[in-house]
Amino acid sequence: MEAVQQQTCTNCGSADVHASHVRSAFWQDDRLVVVEDIPALVCGACAEQFYDDNTVVGLDLLRGEGFPAEKARAELRVPVFSFVDRAAAKSVP
Ligand SMILES: [Zn+2]
Repeated sequence: MEAVQQQTCTNCGSADVHASHVRSAFWQDDRLVVVEDIPALVCGACAEQFYDDNTVVGLDLLRGEGFPAEKARAELRVPVFSFVDRAAAKSVP
């Protein structure tokens, strides 16, 4: 649990690290899922998020279960963009 006890960001060295709950998105094959209420340490300077070992294991278990749809609390509709469209738009005078 060394990562939890040292309250210094390993990314930028800031001491402004606080316990919080975050949400994160995970790809599983072609499916995108969001997990909320993940306990994490968050750096106030660079916004890097750190999970302790228990949390990492818990996320691995969720992933191992395949994020079953019947356990989902809600569903999000998300817009999908293609960078190709952006590149095409830029080439038009
Ligand atoms: Zn940081």
